[in-house]
Amino acid sequence: MELKDIKGLGPKKIELLEKLNIKTISDLVFYAPNYYEDRKKEYALSELEDSANALIKVRITQGGVFIPIKGIKAIKFRASDGVGAIDIVYYNQVWMKKNLKVGSWYYFFGKVKIFRGQISMANPIYSSTKSGELGEIVPVYPLTKDLSNKVLRNFINEAIKEYKPVDLLPIDLIDRYKLPSLKDILRLVHQPDSIDEGKKAIKIMSYIEAFMIQVASHKGIHLKKKYDGKVIKDNLIEREFLATLPFRLTGGQKSAIVEIKQDLESDEAMNRLLQGDVGSGKTVVGQYAAIKSVAAGYQVAFMAPTAILAEQNYKKIDQVANKFHMKVKLLTSSVTSAERAEIINELLNGNIDIIVGTHSLLNEEIKFKALGLVIIDEQHRFGVKQRAELIEKEEGVNLLVMSATPIPRSLALILYGEMDISEIRELPEGRQKIDTFAMSKHQFQTVNEFVEKELKKGRQAYYVCPLVEESEKMDLTSATELYKRLIPVFPDFNIAIVTGRTPEDEKNNIMSEFYNGSIDILVSTTVIEVGIDVPNASTMVIVNAERFGLSQLHQLRGRVGRGKYKSYCLLVCDDMSDDTFTRIKTMERSNDGFEIASEDLRLRGPGEFLGLKQSGRARLRFLKFDEDMDIIIKAKKDYDEWIKNANTDEVKVLEDNTKDFLGEFEIGVLN
Ligand code: ADP
Ligand code: MG
Repeated sequence: MELKDIKGLGPKKIELLEKLNIKTISDLVFYAPNYYEDRKKEYALSELEDSANALIKVRITQGGVFIPIKGIKAIKFRASDGVGAIDIVYYNQVWMKKNLKVGSWYYFFGKVKIFRGQISMANPIYSSTKSGELGEIVPVYPLTKDLSNKVLRNFINEAIKEYKPVDLLPIDLIDRYKLPSLKDILRLVHQPDSIDEGKKAIKIMSYIEAFMIQVASHKGIHLKKKYDGKVIKDNLIEREFLATLPFRLTGGQKSAIVEIKQDLESDEAMNRLLQGDVGSGKTVVGQYAAIKSVAAGYQVAFMAPTAILAEQNYKKIDQVANKFHMKVKLLTSSVTSAERAEIINELLNGNIDIIVGTHSLLNEEIKFKALGLVIIDEQHRFGVKQRAELIEKEEGVNLLVMSATPIPRSLALILYGEMDISEIRELPEGRQKIDTFAMSKHQFQTVNEFVEKELKKGRQAYYVCPLVEESEKMDLTSATELYKRLIPVFPDFNIAIVTGRTPEDEKNNIMSEFYNGSIDILVSTTVIEVGIDVPNASTMVIVNAERFGLSQLHQLRGRVGRGKYKSYCLLVCDDMSDDTFTRIKTMERSNDGFEIASEDLRLRGPGEFLGLKQSGRARLRFLKFDEDMDIIIKAKKDYDEWIKNANTDEVKVLEDNTKDFLGEFEIGVLN
């Protein structure tokens, strides 16, 4: 059954529903109310409180007087419940004069106003009988212009009749918690007999969603938390490494190092996520773990999401490792096959201590003599599957995952439940704030003038555009268009463009020219998002900034301010609606990735935050990440217990249903 099969749902209404992201029957029945209104309990006038909504039954005593208010047609009735009196006022609804008859009894539901002892109600819903919209507990839904709650509610209730529920929870759990059938839960959400009943049903739905996230994010892979781990003993070299650092570690770095040291020295395999903002100094923590492991006789694999980043990491760790006579090699798709064969050989015989690379390190041919530690940098580009593959390469190998896209604890708990978490919450001293400004596209010239000033000082700049899909309306600027537009604007400077379609070689060339300063402006899509380090770049311009999530904007912004120069981020917005403005203002205000992530999650909800958006399927509507921590923890625990003994068929059914329901669900903050 489709939306158009519902009575009264024509093309116009379907368009309105689409604005609410309701595209299927399932979207409709899983649409969550914001709150409930009790239009059931009847109040005497003497019981009314100012500003509360209430249902009253009164008789009209005087009717339909027009009262003069500038520009508005107001009509006032006087009514009584036999004891007290109330004014019922309708604004811009002249027809009410005929609808309400003096001497007749009516039910009214609306917001009570009490001013100097005088009770009134403005534009209340009315009926002569207690039925339909009056006399019930009414769920109040998020709406859009031209779609009333009453109409939407009718559609939902029609849809529930037809909806054929699927299994979204294992039978075991339904039994254990004595849960009603999904269809009944939906009825309780949308047609409860009391507000309490509705709220309870909403909590059950939140639990189901939290459980679905578990199912979806595990993708049938069940990372075992503990193997017998490789024990990496305390050694002098790790101490020397720490003692000879060119700076003092921050508190966060120190505690992360302590936690990692304990993990590595224990006989349980480390499985740790290190979260820290861009520039918080995760690299040195990773280096510590690597040096310690090699000094204790193990090899280390260091994985980065792109070749460019692998190369950067390689250079950094090679410098350090050389001091301790450790051998580091880089393996990416650009090494020759002869070199590759050599590397494979040396990994196997133990000559190479640290291998740095991309996911090419996952290749089956690559085997180690004594792999002790795997480090994954900028982890949100790696899925759970790749994480699992790496650990499975060698039982008991220690895993350190470093992420520069901090996510709130509640979410980390869901997504990386099997991992321990370290956080670096502060930046090294003396780091300057990146001045951030929200701009309108009409100020683009000002933006360019600003950039020009910076370039004239010898700095470099980024211009970043969102990825534009063919199917999207072209009011979005694509990187290529922007590039063409900028060339005449900056005749004295070198501009280059890198997109996802730029061939790898060319991209590498452009990037190295940008590093060495011969390119002044780099126009790109988000390919440069992760980890690029060009200290001379001082300005980041992001076009169509409203299209990005806050966390991603923060990531991008972190590409500047990496050197000694004062740096800037200009967020150019196309659409300056209130929502956009509030969101983008967060970026002006805060430089703290953890805070920004929480705000992003709060504003966009978990579905979009997690990148469910693209799938266009039903989203998470019920679960609230700030309020529902207890539900999340419970769902996680229940999932872990259930999956241990679940039968394969049941798992398969749930996984399929969940996928249908949530769409493709990729772990990590993609957008
Ligand atoms: P990220 O967490 O983004 O990977 P990096 O590890 O690249 O950050 O660190 C960013 C810069 O800060 C590097 O140049 C690094 O040498 C420097 N750095 C790291 N820790 C400290 C510290 N405690 N004090 C001063 N500078 C530091
Ligand atoms: Mg880093």
